[in-house]
Amino acid sequence: MIASAVLASDVTVLGAGIAGLAMAVACAQRGRSVTVIEQAAALTDIGAGLQIAPNGGRVLAALGVTPRAIASRAVHVIDGVSGKSVIRMPLGPGFRLIHRADLISALADRAADVGVTLRLDTRVTDIADGGRALHLSEDTAMPTARLIGADGARGRARAFVEPDHRGAFTGQVAWRAIVPVDQWPAEAQIHTGNGRHLVCYPLRDGRALNIVAVEERTAWTEAGWSHTDDPAHLRAAFAGYATPIRRLLDRVETVHLWGLMDHGATPRWTRGACTLIGDAAHPTLPFLAQGANLALEDALTLAAMLDDPAGWEAARRPRVARALAVARSNARNYHLSGAKRILGHGALRTLNVIRPTAMLGRYDWLYNHDVTAG
Ligand SMILES: Cc1cc2nc3c(=O)[nH]c(=O)nc-3n(C[C@H](O)[C@H](O)[C@H](O)COP(=O)(O)OP(=O)(O)OC[C@H]3O[C@@H](n4cnc5c(N)ncnc54)[C@H](O)[C@@H]3O)c2cc1C
Repeated sequence: MIASAVLASDVTVLGAGIAGLAMAVACAQRGRSVTVIEQAAALTDIGAGLQIAPNGGRVLAALGVTPRAIASRAVHVIDGVSGKSVIRMPLGPGFRLIHRADLISALADRAADVGVTLRLDTRVTDIADGGRALHLSEDTAMPTARLIGADGARGRARAFVEPDHRGAFTGQVAWRAIVPVDQWPAEAQIHTGNGRHLVCYPLRDGRALNIVAVEERTAWTEAGWSHTDDPAHLRAAFAGYATPIRRLLDRVETVHLWGLMDHGATPRWTRGACTLIGDAAHPTLPFLAQGANLALEDALTLAAMLDDPAGWEAARRPRVARALAVARSNARNYHLSGAKRILGHGALRTLNVIRPTAMLGRYDWLYNHDVTAG
C-alpha cells in the first residue's frame, strides 16, 4: 500500500545533479522552500571533468558557489595524427576546469546553507496527477505544488512530459578516463582528425588529466555514463595518433564508454506542474562543453520566472537551440579526414597567425551572455 506524505515544500526538485542543485539554491535564495529528491545514496565522486565557461560561471557567482577549479588559459587544437599544433586560442578570465564531483559538492554545501532539504537514496518511480504527485521508491506518495524535472536525459520527468520523444544514435561513442600526470598546461587540448578526436585538460591540483575520446561507429545501443570498457579498445581506436597521445593512453587503467545520442531539445518543457531543466530539457552533446553551463543558466532563469514557465520556455529556447546546433556541427569539424583535414587545419593555422582570437570571437554570443543581469 502506498502511504501519503504531507505537502512539504513550495518546490520539489527531482535530481541532485548540477541542474537540480543549482535550481534548489536559486529558488531558496528567492524565499521558496525546496526539497530535492535524489536516487543516489551519497553525492560521491561520480563523473569527470567539466569546463565551466563565463556564462555558467556568472550563475555560480550569483548562487554564491565557489568550487575548487583550475583557470583555463587556452583552447589548443592539435592535429591528432602529426601531433602538430593547429591553433591555440587564448582564453580570457572566467574559463574554469572543474571536477564534476567538486562542483556537485560545492552546490550541495550551498544548498544546505540556504535551507534546502536534500533527500538522498530516494528514487522517484512514477509521476502522476499532472506532475503534482511523486511516487517514491519507499512506497510513499509525495504531493508537490511545483515539480522541477532535473533528472537528466533518461529520467522520469522527461518521460512524463514527452513520453514519445526519443533520441537517435549519433554514430559516435565516447570514452572518459582520468590519468595521473606530472605536469600539463592549464588548457583544454583538442586532438582532432580521422573520424575521431580526443579532448584533455588538467583537474584539481593539476596532477590528474581528464580525457574524453570520441570515435565514429556504425552501431551502439547503450547510453548512460557508467559502462566500463577495456582500455585496450580506447588505445586501439587512437593507435594512428601521434606518440604523446598513445603514451598517455597507455597509462589509462579504468575507462567508461557510452554511446552519444542526439535528442535535440525536448519538444515541450512543461506539462501540468512539472517543468524540465538541464539535460532533461535539452540533452547536450559534449562538443561545445556547455551541458553544465546551460543547466546553470536554466536554473537561475527559471527560478526567476517560476510562475510563468511558458514565458520562460519561449525566452530560453532560441539560445538553447543555437548551442545544441553548434555542438552538433563541432563534431563534424573535429573528425575531418584526408584532404579536408589538411585544408581545414591549414586555414586554422593561417588564422592563428593573423588573428588567434577570431575563432573564439564567434562564440561571444554564448560566453558573454549574462543571465544574472536581467
Ligand atoms: C553520473 C554522471 C556523470 C557525468 N559526468 C560528466 C562528465 O564527466 N563530464 C561532463 O561534461 N558531463 C558529465 N555529466 C553530465 C553533466 O553533468 C550534465 O550535462 C549537466 O550537468 C546537466 O545535467 P543535469 O543536472 O541536468 O542532469 P544529470 O547530471 O544527469 O543529473 C540528474 C540527477 O538526477 C538523478 N535521478 C535520475 N533519475 C532519478 C529518479 N528516478 N529518482 C531520483 N533521482 C534521479 C540522478 O541520479 C542524477 O543525480 C555526468 C552526468 C552524470 C549523471
